[in-house]
Amino acid sequence: MERLESYVSSGWARGAGKPSVLVNPATEEPLAEASTLGIDFARAFAHARSFGGKALRSLTFAERGDILRALSRAIHTQRDALIEVAIANGGNTRSDAKFDIDGASGTLAYYADLGKQLGGSKFVVEGDGIQLGRSPRWFGYHALVPRHGVALHINAFNFPAWGIGEKVACAVLAGMPVIVKPATSTALLACRIAKLFVDANVLPEGAFSLIAGPPGNMLDHLAEQDVVAFTGSADTGARLRAHAAIVRGSVRLNIEADSLNSATLGPDVSAGSDTYRMFLREVTRDITQKAGQKCTAIRRIFVPQSMVNDVRDELAAMLSDAHVGNPALDGVTVGPLATADQLRDIRAGIEKLAVEASFVVGDQVVAPSGVPEGKGYFVAPALLHCTDADAASAVHEHEVFGPCATIVPYDGSAPRVVDLVARGKGMLVASVYSDDRAFVTEMVMGLAPYHGRLYFGSEKIADQTAGPGTVLPQSVHGGPGRAGGGEELGGQRGIALYSQRVAIQGARPVLDAVFELKRA
Ligand code: NAP
Repeated sequence: MERLESYVSSGWARGAGKPSVLVNPATEEPLAEASTLGIDFARAFAHARSFGGKALRSLTFAERGDILRALSRAIHTQRDALIEVAIANGGNTRSDAKFDIDGASGTLAYYADLGKQLGGSKFVVEGDGIQLGRSPRWFGYHALVPRHGVALHINAFNFPAWGIGEKVACAVLAGMPVIVKPATSTALLACRIAKLFVDANVLPEGAFSLIAGPPGNMLDHLAEQDVVAFTGSADTGARLRAHAAIVRGSVRLNIEADSLNSATLGPDVSAGSDTYRMFLREVTRDITQKAGQKCTAIRRIFVPQSMVNDVRDELAAMLSDAHVGNPALDGVTVGPLATADQLRDIRAGIEKLAVEASFVVGDQVVAPSGVPEGKGYFVAPALLHCTDADAASAVHEHEVFGPCATIVPYDGSAPRVVDLVARGKGMLVASVYSDDRAFVTEMVMGLAPYHGRLYFGSEKIADQTAGPGTVLPQSVHGGPGRAGGGEELGGQRGIALYSQRVAIQGARPVLDAVFELKRA
């Protein structure tokens, strides 16, 4: 069986000892194995910091952007082969696989363009500066300068391609070397992409490393100038937050974790309208796409009481079209969950929700197409209906990371639904479907403190949006509270995580010469 290799200190290395086995989640057939035992993490971190960091910092934004463009192309030219890997190891349908892989190449291409725009400088000067003294000669600037450490990227199992792309794009553009640590269970796709990156031969020595397998004691090697960007469960995030090396060195830590995202149907939306159809379509897509294993997926559906019966019946009908099975088969629209552990957690989570809510669909035993009897980590898409939103707790607090969402009625008023949404304690995204400007205004002010992103669905944009579940590089991704408190992407904002913001004070003519700024 294939043994995955890590790429550290500019060479491929194989871990020793008993490996973790990666499987096809539709058939449970073993595909590869991975181990990191014996990998010299201390040397890998030191190599990345000294060689990769120095090399990237010596490049301009435009040159770093050129690297990102080559990485984007490396993925895109092997798109078909990568899709097959995502189907086999990730349980992705073809369309799910494209979502992940095109997300990676698209985000890298976006940041390549940004590098071109930022041009010949090596760091960012923010804004126009500020007069500090009596005369404009004593002046101050804020600059974003690349940190001198390594960016450790710890990714979740659900987006092995996009997870690499979005984090590498921001770190490399900022001028930091990266060490990517994908989730072990779906690392096959990440390893294929890493090989493409290395073979593209565009990254300076030490600028890119990969740890293929369990984390071991890699966190012990973190130091003050390093950055950790973590995506995964809130429990692991909490462990990282308390890790001695991170605490001791005030290591910058960005956490993207669990999220009880919501969709709210506005009181103005009538059945049959374009906005209504958009709402139904986007909710259905979020339940079924990637078998619901999307951090941004809608988990709670808030519907005015008067519309609940319509919404329940329409969503039930749309979900009945879902075809669960082996994603290698044409026509399958919902693949398996990624791992046996996920299957156990999702079944337990749905049972927990079912104590507070009743099934609309999804309580039947699933019969997946195209898999050996009894094999695969499948669940039926589940829609539940909770009639007592106040008494419910799991509905608002327990993220079921699978094809599952719950309808919750509300009285049609903005303050009421804001209170209910806020019970999720910090989310990545809330979507609101309404064309009523007064309602939308109240929702913006009410929901904003609890979210990283708000998405307003309206018939005016129904033909061009990608829905709330798609993370765009132009907008920030992250959320407060339970969602981890992190912030990634957001165009140029995305490089701030990997930069030190420094205030620089002095004589304006001197500073302007240093920054090569042209006076107006
Ligand atoms: P997880 O179990 O927390 O694992 C995430 C990553 O952390 C994996 O690479 C894992 O490596 C690594 N890890 C685990 N323990 C570690 C430790 N002690 N030190 C260093 N690394 C460690 O989460 P998951 O099951 O992969 O992901 C599912 C969760 O991610 C869901 O709850 C979902 O909400 C969240 N998620 C959030 C976002 C977002 O953007 N906010 C996106 C996607 C997913 P191994 O695989 O080797 O154990």
